Amino acid sequence: MGTAENAMHSVDSETAAELERMLLSERARAARKQATWELEVVELALARLADGSYGACRQCGAAIALARLLAQPSAAHCLACQQNIERRYQVEQE
Ligand SMILES: [Zn+2]
Repeated sequence: MGTAENAMHSVDSETAAELERMLLSERARAARKQATWELEVVELALARLADGSYGACRQCGAAIALARLLAQPSAAHCLACQQNIERRYQVEQE
């Protein structure tokens, strides 16, 4: 882990290790399912965990709530931005 530990702003190293374990098991599951999109999302989360940007919303940069990360370790957006994205997506579908 090392470098990710220092840059991690809202996740302590023990939690980060737990999240990494969760992400790795997600990756194994997605690979078994051959779910390319899911696999990509998980790979991106692992890369963010490695480079220290994990846990920050990709949209607004705010810290993603820990409860949200533990429920969905591959989450790349905070709840507010995720809801905005989903709303926009639904509007585009209509
Ligand atoms: Zn956000």
